[in-house]
Amino acid sequence: MKLSKESICVQSGHFPYQSHTLPIIPSSTYVFDSAEHGMDIFTNKQKGYIYSRFNNPTVDFAAEKIAALEGFGMDYLPACYLTSSGMSALSTLFLALLKPGDKILSHYSLYGGTDELFHKTLKGLNIDTIIVDFDDLNSVEAALKADSKIAHIHIETPANPTLRCVDIQAVANLAKQYQKKLSVDNTFATPLLQQPLLLGADFVIHSITKYLNGHGTAIGGAVIGKDLEWMDTVFKKAFRLLGGAYNPFEAWLLVNGLKTLPLRLKQHTANAKTLADYLSQHTEIATVNYLGLLDHPYHSIAKKQMEDFGGMMSFELKGGFDAGTKFLNKLQLCVRAVSLGTCDTLISHPASMTHIGVPREERVKYGITDGLIRMSVGIENINDILADFEQALKA
Ligand SMILES: *Cc1c(COP(=O)(O)O)cnc(C)c1O
Repeated sequence: MKLSKESICVQSGHFPYQSHTLPIIPSSTYVFDSAEHGMDIFTNKQKGYIYSRFNNPTVDFAAEKIAALEGFGMDYLPACYLTSSGMSALSTLFLALLKPGDKILSHYSLYGGTDELFHKTLKGLNIDTIIVDFDDLNSVEAALKADSKIAHIHIETPANPTLRCVDIQAVANLAKQYQKKLSVDNTFATPLLQQPLLLGADFVIHSITKYLNGHGTAIGGAVIGKDLEWMDTVFKKAFRLLGGAYNPFEAWLLVNGLKTLPLRLKQHTANAKTLADYLSQHTEIATVNYLGLLDHPYHSIAKKQMEDFGGMMSFELKGGFDAGTKFLNKLQLCVRAVSLGTCDTLISHPASMTHIGVPREERVKYGITDGLIRMSVGIENINDILADFEQALKA
């Protein structure tokens, strides 16, 4: 029976035991029936397990669910590897793809860690990143034309924390035309709201830590790739040797979290919409940045490639930095914390927290101003969130 994305979240997959819920198999190694059996598994003649840095039955079960969601509507299942964090998903992919001298083409206002990975760690390996404005596809094409060392394009849409969006299909077309690979960080949208592979991307990256786990109980990442041959050879080799494997307990947490992803996203989105409307009309608020607002500069791109606008937003108080910190300190329900995508509403201050490693000039240019407050709107009763805002804004 062909399942919808919502049902895949809840029920897809079979485990060869009678247990109703997913068993956790916490084994580092696996038993071979005979020397020949071991040899067959090592030489890929037979499927099986060898060692949990390579793969694990509980982890594989979870990975297949993510593959089914990102590949929903494709005529085959893409390959998916779960990793110890979103950062290890990114670093494993780029170390598998690139060699010294290659360049990455990307944009400003990426996740802070990705930005530092590009401009510090990869730069140290002589893998440079060229930054252009992806609002202007001519400048993307000009960069591709000008520099044949560009081997890869990486985008994040919606981006963290500015919510700038990139037209995935348009960039995928350029990538194809110039024979480059394209990866998309889909953490903010999740495969329920956006499927980059269907829009022409080659790879999808996730920080599972966020909406997919959904409860803030574990760190994790995923790399999903369309080219099965490449994923099964080059990527698999890098993944095993770099050692960023996921673990069975956290895969089990992920599978449980996924069951409610469709419901959670509906509530995150509905709450964010109501809150964005409320803040838009509030006299103390200078700007509201939510993709669902009709006058948002990226509303139309988001509408074109996303099912809905999600639960992320940011805003700036008229009083700037000082008013912002005062406001944060007055909150009683909303939680002062970085990260996002948990059931609870989380509020953070990018300039002093997640983006502290990004040069000020660079972040301000792309909208991460000193007083910007980022919100991951939770699934609490919206009236309680509004009441918390009301009292904190009054104070
Ligand atoms: C959090 C995040 C990451 C990094 O993921 P970790 O799980 O923290 O390693 C990468 N990209 C985006 C968009 C993120 O929000």
